[in-house]
Amino acid sequence: MAASPSSAASSAYAELAAALAARGIGFVYAPDRRAALEYLRVHIPADARVMNGGSHTLEEIGFLELLQHGGYQWLRPAIAATHEREERIRRRREATTADWLVGGANAVTQSGEIVNVDGSGNRLAGYAFGAGKVILVAGVNKVVPDLAAALERIRNRAAVQECRKLAKDTPCARTGRCDNDACRGAERQCGKILIIENEKIAGRITLLLVAEPLGF
Ligand code: SF4
Repeated sequence: MAASPSSAASSAYAELAAALAARGIGFVYAPDRRAALEYLRVHIPADARVMNGGSHTLEEIGFLELLQHGGYQWLRPAIAATHEREERIRRRREATTADWLVGGANAVTQSGEIVNVDGSGNRLAGYAFGAGKVILVAGVNKVVPDLAAALERIRNRAAVQECRKLAKDTPCARTGRCDNDACRGAERQCGKILIIENEKIAGRITLLLVAEPLGF
């Protein structure tokens, strides 16, 4: 089981937990990826409508296998199953209102802002309001001092690796550095950015922080 935020192991993150609580965002500390996966298994009801945001972190902790075999109404396979553009968009829009949306976080500031970037923004729509419950899973490598560091991390580290992995022809993939002004068109991966600064619905968003480096 994931440890509680009050455990000794998570005391280093007590400040972050308090900052998130003040913003209406829950905080759960997992000492490792196994504990994180167990937290998700225990807290998401077996028959729930569940969507996952594309995330290397979720792949690394084994969440996709849990979705395949956990008995959930997992929405992503139906999206992947159609190649008809309009129907695919309709299913993606529908998935933004999943009962549970589990995704990654590109960066988390020490004062509790959660930053995510997306090409089309479908994940962000669910994180911002669409989904009933949102759990964002982040390795400790995602915690940064402030928003400037968050954007630096996203553009000059995460996007570089993502664009290279997807063989995108973007400035960051070519040079290792973002050139925002020169990056336009369909290849661009940073289409929309969401900064979660506050949540009004109690218990809706939880940050699940895993005490190991995960994802880009
Ligand atoms: S804006 Fe373009 S160049 Fe900059 S990080 Fe995003 S994809 Fe890369």
